[in-house]
Amino acid sequence: MKTDSLIFGPVPSRRLGISLGIDIIPFKTCSLNCIYCECGATNHLSLERRHFVDVVTVLSQLKQILKDLNHVDYITFSGSGEPTLNKDIGTMISEIKRLTSIPVAVLTNGTLLYRDDVARDLLPADVILPSLDAVSEEVFSKINRPHPQLEMAEIIDGLIRFREVYTGEIWLEIFMVKSINDHDGELTELYRTIKKIRPDKVQLNSLDRPPADTRVRPVEMKKLEAIKQKWKDLPVEIVKRIRRREEIVAFSKNLENTILNTITRRPLMIDDLVQLTGKNRLEILKYIDVLEKEMKIYPKIVGKKIFYTAKT
Ligand code: SF4
Repeated sequence: MKTDSLIFGPVPSRRLGISLGIDIIPFKTCSLNCIYCECGATNHLSLERRHFVDVVTVLSQLKQILKDLNHVDYITFSGSGEPTLNKDIGTMISEIKRLTSIPVAVLTNGTLLYRDDVARDLLPADVILPSLDAVSEEVFSKINRPHPQLEMAEIIDGLIRFREVYTGEIWLEIFMVKSINDHDGELTELYRTIKKIRPDKVQLNSLDRPPADTRVRPVEMKKLEAIKQKWKDLPVEIVKRIRRREEIVAFSKNLENTILNTITRRPLMIDDLVQLTGKNRLEILKYIDVLEKEMKIYPKIVGKKIFYTAKT
């Protein structure tokens, strides 16, 4: 049982704004062993829910940290494993809801939502962010390398049934890997399945950091934008980060210089840059990603907001 460093952050998060993380699972205990996992290979592939950490310890650490914090947008169950494998997650969410009005988010791989106990535990949370990278068993086993007892049909059914009873937001993430789940057949099935799940957001992502398996290749931004365009009746967002200028279609040195020069003069938020340049948010984020990767700028939490500031 681990007792230290259960809370981390707050960190600026593309999906959740200013997020304070809670990690309630031992390192790489998960029901999946995704080929793209940035934490490396799963060393404990499991479906068994257990008491991994002491609930009182989690809550007292959280209370202590919240005392000194100005603002966070979400308290987020996340970390280096699957948080719903912790049997106490339901109790923790309910207790946090009594402790503070800060919304609670759960980053989950969604594989256990078909189980009534897991679904019930997550009901008090404000946002659930499940993953769904595949619909066919074949692609599921290639990309997520699941526990042998997991079945795709049951997982999908769990997500659909969860939507029917859950009143909070569901932001479904799809992680795209080139030549594995980006072909037309799988994409069509994903589209049909997402229509049944009815998430509030569909977030498309792909690699931006070195994966566990070096043969894993990212799906380019151009392809993600084409999927978004094709699925235009779904609430699709692209959350993949860009790391190289070459990935920006019609890259503009002028726009990059404007962003960098403005940020060098004073820290700015993404919304400020959108207003200043007249470009859309996604376009600005691409340049921000490159400049951040090159360590020319970095995000800084000031009060309730995330500003970008230049390295001095
Ligand atoms: S579900 Fe998340 S933690 Fe588990 S292997 Fe996949 S990416 Fe890693």
